[in-house]
Amino acid sequence: MIHATRSNDPVLIVGSMAFDDLELPTTNAKDVVGGSATYAALSAALFAPARVVAVVGDDFPSSAVELLAARGIETSGIERAAGKTFRWAGRYAKNLTSRTTLDTQLNVFADFRPKLPDAFRASPYLLLGNIHPSLQLEVLAQVERPKLVAADTMNFWISGERPTLLEMLKKIDTLVINDEELRQLAEEHNVKKAAAIVRAMGPKRLVVKRGEYGAMLFDDHGIFFAPAYPLEEEIDPTGAGDTFAGALMGYLSREGSLDRSSLRKGLMVAATVASFCVEGVGTERLAALDREQVARRLEDLRGLVHFGKE
Ligand code: AMP
Repeated sequence: MIHATRSNDPVLIVGSMAFDDLELPTTNAKDVVGGSATYAALSAALFAPARVVAVVGDDFPSSAVELLAARGIETSGIERAAGKTFRWAGRYAKNLTSRTTLDTQLNVFADFRPKLPDAFRASPYLLLGNIHPSLQLEVLAQVERPKLVAADTMNFWISGERPTLLEMLKKIDTLVINDEELRQLAEEHNVKKAAAIVRAMGPKRLVVKRGEYGAMLFDDHGIFFAPAYPLEEEIDPTGAGDTFAGALMGYLSREGSLDRSSLRKGLMVAATVASFCVEGVGTERLAALDREQVARRLEDLRGLVHFGKE
């Protein structure tokens, strides 16, 4: 199911690298290395060459960058700027499904202007991780017609930077977003109606992440549903969405195809990889994951949804 590489196309990931302070039902954790780019790169790299463009401050440990490099991720596009690294703090409800942002400090992100190394401009797969939509636009202006451009975003930008976000949406193929954010963006509660509204804003393909309720793909073929893998031990869902997006891009690059079947399989693979993310604090589980483990859990997931012919 997870084939040998059919293409070796790199996935370029632009996003945040962060220190996260997490209040979880089972534990509290401070200064956890996170950020949308960190999670997405670790998961994309399971399937395809991954390269990152991001900024960190002078307080960011080199060991965290080395950890990405050790997973085969190209880290030369990570800029180290004078100042503090982006910081985010969140508190999760007991059920882990709702979370409150307690604090967002942009720090070095406030003055960040992404500059793509020349070698990165021709990246066939581009994932614009969750960052300011004007930075996502700046990256789009620097790339040479990728095969696939996907973007993620979050409530912070939907409410604070809506006009710029709408401009960005016109320029991408695929939006990966969670259901609450979809409703907020569409100003419509019904997910199916909201998906149609958002697709009319630009992205012809929409991936809606619904946490423990799985994920849905809306495109010209209709709707596809991928369940979430039911976990016994749920520790920390931070970054699961970014992990999902990274795995989807990595898998699609590996397949070298964007046909209906590859996209559907991609959603199942992404759901599987995201489930591992939730099993540890921060990236600890992801950083130790390999394709064999993913393949085994993917087969479990296949068994869960198989209900015979006709
Ligand atoms: P997720 O749980 O998939 O929504 O991703 C959580 C990650 O996103 C955390 O590691 C945060 O550091 C990062 N993050 C939170 N807010 C923002 C923001 N406004 N811009 C960029 N990254 C963010």
